[in-house]
Amino acid sequence: MNKLGEHAVVIGASMSGLLATRVLSDFYTKVTVLERDAFPSADVPRKGVPQGRHAHGLLARGSAVLEDLFPGYSGEVVAQSGGLIGDVANDVIWIGHNARLANSASDLTGLLASRPVLEGHLRRRLTSLPNIRAIGHCAVRGLATDSLCRRVTGVRTNAEGKAGEIIDADLVVDATGRGSASAAWLQALNYPSPAEERVEIGISYTTRTYRRRPSDLDGKHGIVIAGSGPNWRNGVMLAQECDSWIVSTGGYLGDDAPDNDEGFLRYLATLPAMEIHDVVARAEPLSDFRRYRYVANLRRRYEKLARFPERYLVFGDAICSFNPVYGQGITVAAEEALALQRCLQAGPDALARRFYGAAARIVDIPWDIAVGNDLRHPRVKGARPLMRRFVNWYIGKLHCAATRDSALATAFLQVVNLMMPPSSLLAPEIARRVWQGNWRSMLSVPSPANEAARRSSVSP
Ligand SMILES: Cc1cc2nc3c(=O)[nH]c(=O)nc-3n(C[C@H](O)[C@H](O)[C@H](O)COP(=O)(O)OP(=O)(O)OC[C@H]3O[C@@H](n4cnc5c(N)ncnc54)[C@H](O)[C@@H]3O)c2cc1C
Repeated sequence: MNKLGEHAVVIGASMSGLLATRVLSDFYTKVTVLERDAFPSADVPRKGVPQGRHAHGLLARGSAVLEDLFPGYSGEVVAQSGGLIGDVANDVIWIGHNARLANSASDLTGLLASRPVLEGHLRRRLTSLPNIRAIGHCAVRGLATDSLCRRVTGVRTNAEGKAGEIIDADLVVDATGRGSASAAWLQALNYPSPAEERVEIGISYTTRTYRRRPSDLDGKHGIVIAGSGPNWRNGVMLAQECDSWIVSTGGYLGDDAPDNDEGFLRYLATLPAMEIHDVVARAEPLSDFRRYRYVANLRRRYEKLARFPERYLVFGDAICSFNPVYGQGITVAAEEALALQRCLQAGPDALARRFYGAAARIVDIPWDIAVGNDLRHPRVKGARPLMRRFVNWYIGKLHCAATRDSALATAFLQVVNLMMPPSSLLAPEIARRVWQGNWRSMLSVPSPANEAARRSSVSP
C-alpha cells in the first residue's frame, strides 16, 4: 500500500487511540502513540481510564471489527485471559421498558472481559507490529503548526524529564477521550471550537466484582437492565475473566447506589428484576466498591466547523460519549476506525471534512438510541419532538411484544449491537409483530390474560 506520510502521532492509548493507531499503521511509515499514563505491566485499571473499573462488554459489531483489524483477538482474550465469547441475544438477559426480552439463538457474537483485559490485548497486538511505537508517561500539552497555523505539524509534549519537546508528525489524531483539550488547542490557534450538545443525566455507577459460580444466573453470561419508570435505575452484571462477575448499578440525576453491602443489596432489590440482587446476596465480594459519575451525554460537532487545520483529527469519545448502559462506546470507536481507513484509502485531501462527516453518521445512531432512551425520563432536559415520542412509544410496545417474540427481541438487539439501522425496526414484518403482540392494549381492550402478561413481563 502507498504510504501517505512518514509519521503519524496518536494522542491517548486507550481503546480509540489503539484502534486508530492500527489503521494508521497501514498508511504511515511509522506511528507513535503517546499516553499520559504509564503502561501497566499487567491488565489492571489505570488512572487515565477511570471507567475501566466498571462493567464493560464488547457488542457484536465491535467484536467483528476488532476481529477484522486484529485477527484472532477474541480467541486470544478467551484463551489467555479467560474472557467469554457468547451469543448476545441468548446468553445475556436484556431488560428495558420494564420488559424482559425473550432469549433465543442468534448470530450476534459478543465478547466479555474486563476493560483492562480488552485494552491490554489490543496494546500487545499493536506494539508487536514493527512500525508502531507506544510511549507511556507522555502527556501532550498542545499542537505545533506551520507558520500560518494552517497545518498541524506535530505535538508539544512533556514526556517525563523532557519538558516542552515537539514531536513532528504528518498527521495527528486526538484520542484523549471525553476530557479532550482539542477545543482549547484549536482556540489557541484561532480556530473556532466545535458546538457541543449536552444532555444532562447525572448517572453514577457503583460497582463491585464478585466470585462467579457456574450455576449463577442459570449459566447465562450477564444481564443488562436499562432503567425505566418509576425509579429509572440501571443495573448491569457481566461475567468476566477469573470466574468473576462485575456488577454496576445506579440511577439518574444523583440517585446513587450506596457503596456498602447492605445499601447496595437494598438498591439492587429495587431493580425491575431480582437476578442481580439474588446473585450478589450469595456471592463472595472480590473488590471494594467503586463509583463513577457520568454527568452528561456529550457530542462535539466537528463536522459542522467551517474551518479546521489540516492534518489533524479528533477521534472516539473525544467526539462523542453517551450513556454507557447499552455498552456502545468501543463499537463506535471501531466503526470510526473503519471510516478512517476508508477516508485514508481515498487519499489525504480534505481528510478532516470527510472523516468528520463519516464519524457523524456513525455517531447519529448510538446517540439517538442512548439519548432517546434517556429522554423517556421525565426530569431529563431536552427536546422531545413528536418523532422521538413516537419512537419511544413504539420501542416500548416492541419490548412488550418481545417478551414472548424472540424474533422481535433479536431485531432490537441487532440495532443495539449496531449491526442494523434503527429504521429496520419499522420494517413491515417487525411492525406487524409489534402490533400482533400489543393489539389488545393498543385498542385498550382490557383482558385478564393481557393484564397478567403485562404484570409478569419482567419474569422469564
Ligand atoms: C461506566 C462506563 C461503562 C462503559 N461501558 C462500556 C461497555 O460496556 N462497552 C463499550 O463499548 N463501551 C463502554 N463504555 C465507553 C468506553 O469506555 C469508551 O467509549 C472507550 O473507552 C473509548 O474511549 P476513548 O479511547 O475514546 O477514551 P478514553 O478511554 O477515555 O481514553 C483516553 C486516553 O487518553 C489518555 N490521555 C488523556 N489526555 C492525554 C494527553 N494530554 N496526553 C496523552 N494521553 C492522554 C488517557 O490517559 C486515556 O488513556 C463505558 C463508559 C463508561 C463511562
